[in-house]
Amino acid sequence: MSFAADYHIHSSVSPDSKESYQAIFQAAGQQGLSEIMITEHYECYTPGYQSRFFQEGYLEGYAEAFQNARQQYQGPLYIGFGLELGQSNENPERGEAVLRKFPFDFVIGSCHKIDNMDLSQYDYNNIDTNELLDRYLGSLLEIVRQDRYDCIGHFDLPKRYARRQGTDLEIDPADPRVEEILRLVIQNGKGIEINTSGLRQGAGDCFPSLPLLKRYRELGGTIVTIGSDAHRAMDVAADIQTGRELLMEAGLKHIARFRSRRPELIDL
Ligand SMILES: [Zn+2]
Ligand SMILES: [Zn+2]
Repeated sequence: MSFAADYHIHSSVSPDSKESYQAIFQAAGQQGLSEIMITEHYECYTPGYQSRFFQEGYLEGYAEAFQNARQQYQGPLYIGFGLELGQSNENPERGEAVLRKFPFDFVIGSCHKIDNMDLSQYDYNNIDTNELLDRYLGSLLEIVRQDRYDCIGHFDLPKRYARRQGTDLEIDPADPRVEEILRLVIQNGKGIEINTSGLRQGAGDCFPSLPLLKRYRELGGTIVTIGSDAHRAMDVAADIQTGRELLMEAGLKHIARFRSRRPELIDL
């Protein structure tokens, strides 16, 4: 395997991780990766909502910590400066400002929150899951329409939390809303990621699962990155090989890497 990359990694810069860059870089080298993309969180909320974490200075802190760590690193690994931008459709102005601030290599567009509440916090056994899914897909549609991303993160994310609570919440690949989102992604020259975290977190599946990936390919999609969504060094590169196999199973021929937010397709 010549090109081995993990395109979704968080360190302690993100509020939900305690990991150091040094430990992440070292783990990536030990796992035989040639490339990693650091993708710290930046979460957007509806205007006026006060976030505890994503305040003035957060991004500057990220850029400084990242640049210092990358300068000190002496190995052969390529280390990209990325971002996971959460629901920027909730505050487009903020989303624009964030992307203007630093020259990111790669931006994952994710939806983690509906009504400023994390999808992990819903009680899937006691809510109308169809309504939640409706809102979720509506949010993804806004994200792709507003075009502030390079790849869509963990496309069928609600599945992660629903399955943790013992219920299923599968997105139907034949759903016309899914098709509309995927068509826009493809038309705009953007992509999606295969997020392997579900395999180690109990969902038993990647995000998205194979049928959605196949649908993306059928509609003409070609740009796919693979990321572990590691929040600990020990998870860096986790199930990346399984992600590759999923790509091939879906009939895709390439894996994408990014420089200055431009994709480059590499033969599988
Ligand atoms: Zn995410
Ligand atoms: Zn993430």
